[in-house]
Amino acid sequence: MAEQTRINGTELAEEFLADFLRHPEGEKLKLCIQCGTCSGSCPTSEFMDYTPRQIIAAVRAGLLDRVLNSNTIWVCSSCYSCTVRCPQGIRLTDAMYELKRLAIKHDLFPRGAKAPVLEEAFMHEVDKYGRNPESAMMTRFYLGTNPLEAVRQAPFALGMLRRGRLKLREKRIRGHAQLEAISRRAEEVD
Ligand code: SF4
Ligand code: SF4
Repeated sequence: MAEQTRINGTELAEEFLADFLRHPEGEKLKLCIQCGTCSGSCPTSEFMDYTPRQIIAAVRAGLLDRVLNSNTIWVCSSCYSCTVRCPQGIRLTDAMYELKRLAIKHDLFPRGAKAPVLEEAFMHEVDKYGRNPESAMMTRFYLGTNPLEAVRQAPFALGMLRRGRLKLREKRIRGHAQLEAISRRAEEVD
């Protein structure tokens, strides 16, 4: 992991709000009444250091650095229960994605967390090939988390290779240049 960016919770909260308020219906975030319906509906909140309701409280209190340094956003399974049930129409799942983007941008996640490495590996392969070749993604993931696990999985990979279930050379999708143009445009807008 790169050296952590020196950015405090208030600055993070301001950056998050500026980005999130540009989402469709992002303004509704300000309408949170802290009812806790989101946390009560969330199938993974009991494993989170901060519940979905507490995330909005943290944004308001300028304590977003604590949330990003916790396991919360990486435990979210994107099931949309919170979004569907929020009485104020707040799209909390979108907020989780926005927080993941922010965490990766500022290199703020718990030491040893695997989900951010997996997400980076996934995006790297999609950028390169226009899709996700699993063998390349998993190699990248193991090298970033536990290289010994890559060695342990080698016999399994060889077996798949023999049965033609794994490729050594991956091909880009047709129209990859168009995908690159879309990504570039999205980054400019961002
Ligand atoms: S359900 Fe909606 S209004 Fe209630 S705490 Fe969660 S985000 Fe806020
Ligand atoms: S989308 Fe994430 S935060 Fe919302 S209920 Fe599902 S797991 Fe919980």
